[in-house]
Amino acid sequence: MASMRALSLSRAESLVVSTRVALPRAWGFHHPWTACRDVSAFVWANSDGIVTTRSVGPDSSRVHARARKPAGRSIGRRRGTPYGRRRGMGRADGLVTYLNDAWTPYHAVFATCEALRARGYEELDERDAWSLRRGGKYFYTRNASACVAFAVGGGYEAGDGFVIVGAHTDSPCPKLKPNTRVDGGGDVRIRVQPYGGGLWHTWFDRDLGIAGRVVVKSSKTNEVFHRLVKIDRAVCRIPTLAIHLDRGVNSEGMKVNFQQHMAPILATRSKAEGGEETKEKKTEDDRGEESSRHHPLLLKLIADEIGCAPGDIVDFDLQLCDTQPSAIGGAQREFVYSGRLDNLVSCYTSLHALLNASTDEALEKASGVRMIMHFDHEEVGSESSSGAAGAMTTDAIKRIAAALNPEAVEGLDERTRRASFCVSSDMAHALHPNYADRHEPAHAPKMHGGLVIKHNANQRYATDAVTAFMFRELGERAGVPVQEFVVRSDTGCGSTIGPIFSTRTGIRTVDVGAAQLSMHSIREVCGADDIDHAVTHLTALFLHFIDLDRTLIVDGAIGALCRRCDVFESASQMSLDASVPDADDARTYAT
Ligand SMILES: [Zn+2]
Repeated sequence: MASMRALSLSRAESLVVSTRVALPRAWGFHHPWTACRDVSAFVWANSDGIVTTRSVGPDSSRVHARARKPAGRSIGRRRGTPYGRRRGMGRADGLVTYLNDAWTPYHAVFATCEALRARGYEELDERDAWSLRRGGKYFYTRNASACVAFAVGGGYEAGDGFVIVGAHTDSPCPKLKPNTRVDGGGDVRIRVQPYGGGLWHTWFDRDLGIAGRVVVKSSKTNEVFHRLVKIDRAVCRIPTLAIHLDRGVNSEGMKVNFQQHMAPILATRSKAEGGEETKEKKTEDDRGEESSRHHPLLLKLIADEIGCAPGDIVDFDLQLCDTQPSAIGGAQREFVYSGRLDNLVSCYTSLHALLNASTDEALEKASGVRMIMHFDHEEVGSESSSGAAGAMTTDAIKRIAAALNPEAVEGLDERTRRASFCVSSDMAHALHPNYADRHEPAHAPKMHGGLVIKHNANQRYATDAVTAFMFRELGERAGVPVQEFVVRSDTGCGSTIGPIFSTRTGIRTVDVGAAQLSMHSIREVCGADDIDHAVTHLTALFLHFIDLDRTLIVDGAIGALCRRCDVFESASQMSLDASVPDADDARTYAT
């Protein structure tokens, strides 16, 4: 394939990868897995110009053939990998590009898989038989909203551990209800329901778009498609109540009743139903059950975006999204302003750490398996087929280890899990300067202070002394700062996928994350330098964890400890001195 030829270009040929090229409609670019106008293509070029283009998705070859660049047209080019680092810029710049694409879990997974494919990762399907090889790099998705990517060490042996970074793709947002139609009133509104614990007052007076995935059934061919959709212009808004009608709002706070106050206005009814252009047309395409569940205007917006007839839309998972682009801000360009930092920062940084640690050179002699797992549904408890409490992790580890060891190996799955290590990466609370009293004074993380190790004695985080030490040590060896967090003793503690992951799998786990403010707001903020800190730290984890793990013996060494350790020796001496003949009694004295 031409794309493979492009991938094999040597570094000396100055391989240039152009990212997120918006292909003009005139090219007829169309892809069944995503919206036709929103799809991106990889463009591989050498210094003479464009070599080839390739999209991602199940039928890349077909798309490839139709997406060739017409002669004579120029395309902006960027040095680096998709969502990677521009020359002279930190990683934060690549993060902003990623965030602007990743409006929903579906788009986040799509963006992640694009980057993986561009770096030679092969796509797997969980329904197929797998044949994996040492040194191989693979990824697969589940429900298109969660994904797993892994690179097998060239020196992998049966029983080697997996070094895993887990993160989540979802964020709190208003999601559209199954029946969005609101009858009556002067405005066309949409019924929405809360997803997760959002700071809902921040969604008022924002310019909102709609995005997610749609199931489309062609009325002409009866074919069914799964499409991603992203209406990125401001099509609706949840207005606040004027202060003249809510005099106490500043002193008493804004009290949001989601059911009553959060329905966004899509249009005035006079424009939606009276205007010539948007007038409800009873064409064949528009008829059907969907029309009664949703206002025709909403269906038309979605249909126009993905290039189908409104009547072909048979179902969807859609959410409201902030249309304001993510940006670098602050006097020193030191902050990232965006929605969904929790937890797309972890998705982005773990992705790039894995890419750094899975070059041919890095994998050649490596032990074990390096893996990222991006789960859905963390914000609502992780209990789903694509969530961390489901079977995704155990399925992945068991299956990958079995595929790498076709001959039966005693205790393979259990040995693999006991040798594995997971970093549960999720955002942390930075010290809020205007609310400093809400933080534990000796454990108040700061932005730009490096990844935060999260502790909680009641296991709301999975961290313990050993896993914290390991992670801290890797950071110190990589030369990046590390911080510690524990919540005030008079305050409840949040949680992450960490305790769920370690409970389900028995894998040693540490909870970490970059420090941010405004968590679960529509617009959050984190430190730009921490993106580099996280990528460096997690890269070191992938490269060096297994070596470090060999030096710290925790389990399986009691016998050795009895022989070597002074405490154990004196304890056994005590039992002898007491002339206790019975072993049970000896244990009583040997405390
Ligand atoms: Zn989170």
